Amino acid sequence: MSYAGFMWECACGQLEHGEDSPEECMKCGKINSFVKLPEELIEEREREFTEEELELDSVREVKKQMQKRKAMKKAKMQKTQLNNNKKKGRKR
Ligand SMILES: [Zn+2]
Repeated sequence: MSYAGFMWECACGQLEHGEDSPEECMKCGKINSFVKLPEELIEEREREFTEEELELDSVREVKKQMQKRKAMKKAKMQKTQLNNNKKKGRKR
């Protein structure tokens, strides 16, 4: 995604996109504390962001798989229980 304007960074590390410097920091509340980041730095940061997002995605994927495996295990256990109940029923 492309955006117009520049990237600004507050002393606290908060980043904002925009044509003009943000007046107030949403994170720490400081006024006029934003400095313009050079474009090379923006690209670097954006790359970092995408890598972080990818990492998040993979974590989410692993969690999903774990949940699936848990659900399968549960279903299997329920099936065995059902079979056991059936066997008991035949014996009677
Ligand atoms: Zn701040």
